[in-house]
Amino acid sequence: MPKASFEYLNGELERLQQKGMYRLPTVWSGASGPWMETDGRKLLQLSSNNYLGFTGHPDIKKAAIEAIEKLGAGSGSVRTITGTLDIHDELERELADFKGTEAALVFQSGFTTNQGALSLLGTDDLVISDELNHASIIDGIRLTKAERAIFAHKDMDQLELRLKENDGRKRAFIITDGVFSMDGDIAPLPEIVELAEKYGAFVYVDDAHASGVLGRNGKGSTDHFGLHGRVHIQVGTLSKAVGVVGGYVAGADVLKRYLIHKARPFLFSTSQPPAVAAACLAAIRLLRRSQPLIDRLWDNANFFRTRLQEEGFDTAGSETPIVPILIGAPDKTAEFSRLLLEEGVYAQGIVYPTVAMDKGRVRCIVTAAHTKDDLTFAVDRIVAVAKRTGLLKG
Ligand code: PMP
Repeated sequence: MPKASFEYLNGELERLQQKGMYRLPTVWSGASGPWMETDGRKLLQLSSNNYLGFTGHPDIKKAAIEAIEKLGAGSGSVRTITGTLDIHDELERELADFKGTEAALVFQSGFTTNQGALSLLGTDDLVISDELNHASIIDGIRLTKAERAIFAHKDMDQLELRLKENDGRKRAFIITDGVFSMDGDIAPLPEIVELAEKYGAFVYVDDAHASGVLGRNGKGSTDHFGLHGRVHIQVGTLSKAVGVVGGYVAGADVLKRYLIHKARPFLFSTSQPPAVAAACLAAIRLLRRSQPLIDRLWDNANFFRTRLQEEGFDTAGSETPIVPILIGAPDKTAEFSRLLLEEGVYAQGIVYPTVAMDKGRVRCIVTAAHTKDDLTFAVDRIVAVAKRTGLLKG
């Protein structure tokens, strides 16, 4: 027998390389921020989810340091054994209060939050999911025994058709991202809620990119649309605007107690370290006083998007600080992103399979920490590359 070897993996990697889809992570030196260093070069950062600059906020860092000193580096266990400390409990109470729900349950990441929350679904359920929902929702749904249906992106007629087809046969759950991570558009939550109420369905919204961005003090899409009490499950991450890591489900107390018994990431994976929970708690408290910072984020986002549109770029459906620039094929997208890097701007190319084959884009994410000069520099460099590559007429 020949010796077992991983050589066979190279075939797929070469295929990815040929298609412009091969990419190893950039290694950054120093902290997250509007300018970051890699390979000895300072680059303008347009790809981070650090919307409010919270990753480096002194109050949040202080809370983490104090928690390490007091409580140690790790929690020592999963939540259901010895891994629920006061700090986790306090964070959950703070989150529930912030979101205006009865309860909240914290997980180790946004990804595992969706996986955990979706363990709610079983054979008696139908899940109806927007086609552009995040991978963690898609994977979470795959792990359930629920019947599955997809509706075209934000297509309310299709959603209604799916609900009609079900005709009350199964309990229906409509799932949507609050802000879509690749297009930067906002879910039509009021219409979704209306349909849900018409057909007796549940509404589940993943506010990963809406938390800290939409709603009063960044309370999310439910607050943004004034839909309190009409959205049954609000998922959020603690890793984007909140600046740390983790995720949570906010909703009814009975839902929390059910998930405690059923959500596998909660049951079988060690809880957030105390420093992480403490940092998240400090960040949520800070968020409550951060409307001026959120206003600045929106001012920056609107300035940047408008400037790009004036130059003639297609920014897809962007309505938020996520501003894609549509390019097309994966190789062209990768080339655009590489040339931008040469110009001193880091904006990630997003290609198939994350987006459709012909919908490759350079995804820019604006933060409150960028200055107008930073954003003007970025637009100038983007225009220069677009003229060089023929995306814009020279
Ligand atoms: N849901 C959505 C909509 C996301 O964009 C992301 C982050 N990429 C996640 C969940 C996962 O969150 P986290 O990075 O905290 O695991």
